[in-house]
Amino acid sequence: MGTRSLLNRRLTGMGTTIFVEMSALAVATGSINLGQGFPDTDGPHEIAQVAASAVLAGRGNQYPPGPGIPELRTAIAEHQQRFYGLTYDPDTEVLVTAGATEALAAALLALLEPGDEVIAFEPFYDSYAACIAMAGATRVPLTLRAPSFRPDLDELRSLITPRTRLLLLNTPHNPTGTVLTPEEVAVIAELAVEHDLLVITDEVYEHLVFAGTHHPLAALPGMRERTVAISSAGKTFSFTGWKVGWVTATPELVAAVRTAKQYLTFVSAGPFQYAVAEALRLPDTYFADFRADLHRKRDLLSAGLTAAGFRVFEPQGTYFITTDITPLGERDGLDFCRSLPERCGVVAIPNVVFYDNTDAGRSHVRFTFCKQDAVLERAIERLAGLQGR
Ligand code: PMP
Ligand code: GLN
Repeated sequence: MGTRSLLNRRLTGMGTTIFVEMSALAVATGSINLGQGFPDTDGPHEIAQVAASAVLAGRGNQYPPGPGIPELRTAIAEHQQRFYGLTYDPDTEVLVTAGATEALAAALLALLEPGDEVIAFEPFYDSYAACIAMAGATRVPLTLRAPSFRPDLDELRSLITPRTRLLLLNTPHNPTGTVLTPEEVAVIAELAVEHDLLVITDEVYEHLVFAGTHHPLAALPGMRERTVAISSAGKTFSFTGWKVGWVTATPELVAAVRTAKQYLTFVSAGPFQYAVAEALRLPDTYFADFRADLHRKRDLLSAGLTAAGFRVFEPQGTYFITTDITPLGERDGLDFCRSLPERCGVVAIPNVVFYDNTDAGRSHVRFTFCKQDAVLERAIERLAGLQGR
């Protein structure tokens, strides 16, 4: 095989994702896993029933249509209308993908040329860096700094160059929990229009906002035609293993993303598409109860982490809490997370792996609260014994 590295240079340093490493550590040590963001309770039974019935009735067991089954594309368009007043044509402006992950990959691979610059909030969700690299483009971080984790919009302006092709935004933001305000999205939209930038918005936590509301960029003046909005069923309906995601955008943008998507998976999740179509039509009470339940869990874990000595940065959205471990006499989040299972039987995620400017996130550690109350309470008890150990 010679001396040449097997992994190409675009992916150098991107070995195993932190989620795989930390979930494996949780299993190996029998720890409570507050690392990877997946609920320990499945979504609505009646929705699972639709998926099971679809499999048994032979609906979706063979390749579904490339853009997604019409029922789901229609339900996605209706959801955008119902929650945001945004109108999309289900035939030309909606694309079903294998989770938001594939939507992001396809969008970045389709829309970027080598050498293009992509401005994204840092800490970045890990697949952003990998997909920007696979597209041969360059990521330009806009660091969200503690304690507020607000984007500095003057800095954003200063980062835009003639090579900037797109802004990659995530609101509500994983891992900080920042939810962009109307004022922030207005300035971002003005900059995008002024510099003729494309915008990809990752909105997978759109229904998990505890303070303020979710503001889709596509709703702002001049943005509908330049925004590729991405979301998925995993978080909203607590079925992260189904991997049903979607893109909504203009016919031209959808066609571009579809071109890349068809050579990644072509299609996926046939029977689950029928179930997600039903899920998107659940009554408002489903969405309100889901949010209220997670809000309560946020407060439970937030109080527990504070009592255990962490500095807690209260998230406005998502199901993650970012903390600072310095008050515990710790400095390095990666070392801390690697030793935490042994010290007290809890797994968390070190935010530093989501940074280029690693100093900004070195002492930050993320915990998820999408777990049963009893599990959160047990984790809190264990963490409370951490000081002095
Ligand atoms: N974007 C963000 C910000 C995420 O946290 C995640 C993880 N769920 C994804 C995208 C991927 O979503 P999916 O599981 O639908 O591929
Ligand atoms: N989105 C989830 C998180 O941030 C995990 C997804 C994954 O494992 N890639 O924890």
